[in-house]
Amino acid sequence: MRFDLHCHSTRSDGLLSPTEVVRRAASRGVDVLALTDHDDTSGLAEARAAADEAGIAFVTGAELSVSWDDITIHVVALRFDPDHAALLGGLEQIRSGRDGRARRIAESLAAAGIPGAYEGARRYVTSERLISRTHFARFLVEAGHVHEMKDVFLRYLTPGRPGYVAHAWASLGDAIGWIHAAGGQAVLAHPGRYKVSSAGLKGLLGDFRDLGGDAIEVLSPSHQATQIAQFAALARSHGLAASTGSDYHGPGESWLDLGDLPPLPFGVEPVWKHW
Ligand code: AMP
Ligand code: MN
Ligand code: MN
Ligand code: MN
Repeated sequence: MRFDLHCHSTRSDGLLSPTEVVRRAASRGVDVLALTDHDDTSGLAEARAAADEAGIAFVTGAELSVSWDDITIHVVALRFDPDHAALLGGLEQIRSGRDGRARRIAESLAAAGIPGAYEGARRYVTSERLISRTHFARFLVEAGHVHEMKDVFLRYLTPGRPGYVAHAWASLGDAIGWIHAAGGQAVLAHPGRYKVSSAGLKGLLGDFRDLGGDAIEVLSPSHQATQIAQFAALARSHGLAASTGSDYHGPGESWLDLGDLPPLPFGVEPVWKHW
């Protein structure tokens, strides 16, 4: 069975509609797919219908933006009730901060000599519910400030660089609480991507586990082979299950295509063990 439990559509910062994501996943041999748009579940009904039509299994998903210590982390929610009020309210609360943040990102870019970024980013927004740094990144490429999407975050939009602004997202405890209230599982997304020391990473994994977190992404495009082994060992030592996801955003913008993932390393418990 081929699982892909992390990807994005036009309901957040992906380039393909929920239906297109599902069809592409099916054509690439994915058996079980979760659509995990940032802070939103509005694409799930469409994706589920497309999955039924394509004959693949579909799992509800979302990727929640969370503030932990002084960094932003992402928590993937899987297999929850998509109509649960606590989770929907929590996601709405997270989304509600995004427009003000986007205006502050634009002010920061304007101060660095790049005017018009808010309007520019808005041109790439595909869901009125959500504006993200990815939309700013597409604008910065279009406006010629960087050549390629993969270089944007090296020069802009990240801590210490123009276009980065601090922002308070949900707390880790709230995020896990909403996911569990809705009957879902909480997965720490791409742990290899966080700019923390190894002590900081252990602190994060410890907090995540103590707050009830269920699994970590062991397989992710952000992880090199040595990190895959490292996160498999950390999952085991923390009593956490393991998940896998391409974090696909669309053609030309992703390191891995849908379903392009090796099997989980030996000895970890898959997050889908009890599905
Ligand atoms: P936001 O939730 O608005 O902070 O936007 C985060 C999104 O920006 C991520 O989900 C990625 O799609 C994109 N992103 C962040 N950092 C990078 C990076 N280093 N390379 C490519 N995309 C990135
Ligand atoms: Mn994204
Ligand atoms: Mn993420
Ligand atoms: Mn993602």
